Amino acid sequence: MKKIIVTLDGYSSCGKSTLAKQLAHELNYVFIDSGAMYRAITLYCLRNHIDWNDDVAVQEALQKINLDFDYNAATGSSDMLLNDENVEALIRDMLVSEHVSEVAANQYVRQFGVAQQQKMGEKKGIVMDGRDIGTTVFPNAELKIFVTADPAVRVERRFKELYAKNPNITMAEVQTNLEMRDYIDSNREFSPLRKAEDAIILDNSNLTREEQLKTALQWVHNKIKE
Ligand code: C5P
Repeated sequence: MKKIIVTLDGYSSCGKSTLAKQLAHELNYVFIDSGAMYRAITLYCLRNHIDWNDDVAVQEALQKINLDFDYNAATGSSDMLLNDENVEALIRDMLVSEHVSEVAANQYVRQFGVAQQQKMGEKKGIVMDGRDIGTTVFPNAELKIFVTADPAVRVERRFKELYAKNPNITMAEVQTNLEMRDYIDSNREFSPLRKAEDAIILDNSNLTREEQLKTALQWVHNKIKE
């Protein structure tokens, strides 16, 4: 069967990764969480005191960064490896979330991320979620989905997820972080978050996971038949 590229872009905590992972599983495609790559670069910068506004320091740091994904059978998705260290849990930390959008706005960080992501899609059969996948990484992707959800729904979903790991987290903290990331991601100079003109909007505010998967799968099958 013909293999295609499926992109999922949208604001923070719209459930893009959940849907992308389910879609890849159903289709037997590779799933790539591009946000994890920017999170891992951010972790590296924080640990090594790299100033992400200093382009020279960032370029030097990027030469020392090797990113990889390692399939985790227990979770059914891939863990992020930073220089061979499994950093999957660490990159979900609030400290990383607080700085990732600033790091991801750096032009050299973007070039680094985009080049690796494009390589991963060479053989197609991939579902990738992020912010600029349909606009910059795979502008010719066969199916582009722009996922949206009501802001209050997004805050609540994210809060529940983070609260399970850290009961000290507050709803206000989560809301501020989502608003800040969305603002920086949408207003940065290089590869800002935008809906690609040919992307289909999927508003999942009132959809169950099963319902959104069914809708997206139908779109994929229609594209494969074309
Ligand atoms: O998807 P996730 O929320 O984990 O992404 C974390 C951050 O990484 C985003 O807020 C954004 O700043 C950055 N990102 C990006 N481009 C992508 C994916 C993520 O700039 N394709």
